Amino acid sequence: MATSFGPAAAELRLPVGGAGRYNPRVPEPSASAINAATRLCAVYGHPVRHSASPAMHNAALARLGLNWRYLAFDVEPERLGDAIKGAAAMGFVGLNLTVPHKILAVDMVDYVDPAARRWGAVNTIRFEGRTGGGDWLPLSLFQEANPAQTRSAGFNTDADAIVRAIQEDLAFAIRGKRILILGAGGAGRAAALRLADEHPAEMFLINRTRSKAEEVATEIARSHPDIPLSLDYPSQPVDLALNATSLGLNLRDPLPVNEAWLCAQPPAHAYDMIYRPAETPFLKLARERGAKTANGLGMLLHQGADSLEIWTGQIAPRDTMRLALERFLQG
Ligand code: NAP
Repeated sequence: MATSFGPAAAELRLPVGGAGRYNPRVPEPSASAINAATRLCAVYGHPVRHSASPAMHNAALARLGLNWRYLAFDVEPERLGDAIKGAAAMGFVGLNLTVPHKILAVDMVDYVDPAARRWGAVNTIRFEGRTGGGDWLPLSLFQEANPAQTRSAGFNTDADAIVRAIQEDLAFAIRGKRILILGAGGAGRAAALRLADEHPAEMFLINRTRSKAEEVATEIARSHPDIPLSLDYPSQPVDLALNATSLGLNLRDPLPVNEAWLCAQPPAHAYDMIYRPAETPFLKLARERGAKTANGLGMLLHQGADSLEIWTGQIAPRDTMRLALERFLQG
């Protein structure tokens, strides 16, 4: 997504290098010195200590030549409202929100973008100021002083990112395919609703708490009554199985999927939103049974790049961001 904010934020098209794979000999772009004009953005999560977002975003900010920094703050859910207001008061450009804040934030921002309202989750906040003419513009465009009137605007970049990552990393077109989604939490819900927009032939939604999968299925049936939906495992192999549960983050987690089903009916493609470990037991089993697999790194990259474009109005240097992520995750 490229967001244009007018001449003050003309698109920057930068040479961003080759295929974008990790190469330890490619130097990191160097950041400008921190000074009194440095602008801030950040990710709020709880916990947030292991977030890869600062590495990815600071590399991009350096590449774009912006005198900005991206930080990470551990914010407890009870303090989220205060923390958003505090960032606005201090002139932050924007925020990313991660677990467990995305759903809570929908009711905490002053304006919710229609897509974020539909997915029911906000993972990106842009702080905006009101011009003399009454328009709301990103705070990043106000160079001297913060405007008298500001607001927080909430967006969701996760949903588009999962579609793009599946298309790129698995070379997979969703239209006309049979898709199984494991998980109906914040990410699973957004993925299911967004993937339905791509017109798959059939969808299967599996979740530990069945009522949550039922809610998502009801919403999809309302917007896409032509897509057959089931809340059980299919009797024929699917084209894509997507893990959107948090199972696989920890070594001792059980599989997010019925193992006997996966072995009997391996999917042609498997995607796991988890990117650390790089290969979860779900992906390993699917790969061993012949599936083409990809982990959540591409999704992380694209949701972050789309956030950056929302804040800056510039094209995000995705190759630089991918390299920074791969460096961070290998280091
Ligand atoms: P969430 O809202 O907390 O949802 C967690 C999901 O996992 C729910 O479906 C939950 O089922 C299921 N689950 C948790 N523990 C389970 C267990 N013991 N047995 C069975 N199911 C269990 O989290 P989220 O925001 O949707 O995130 C889900 C995953 O996606 C996480 O691993 C997150 O790191 C990943 N993610 C990755 C990206 C990326 O950029 N790559 C972006 C967003 C999310 P119930 O509904 O029954 O609780």
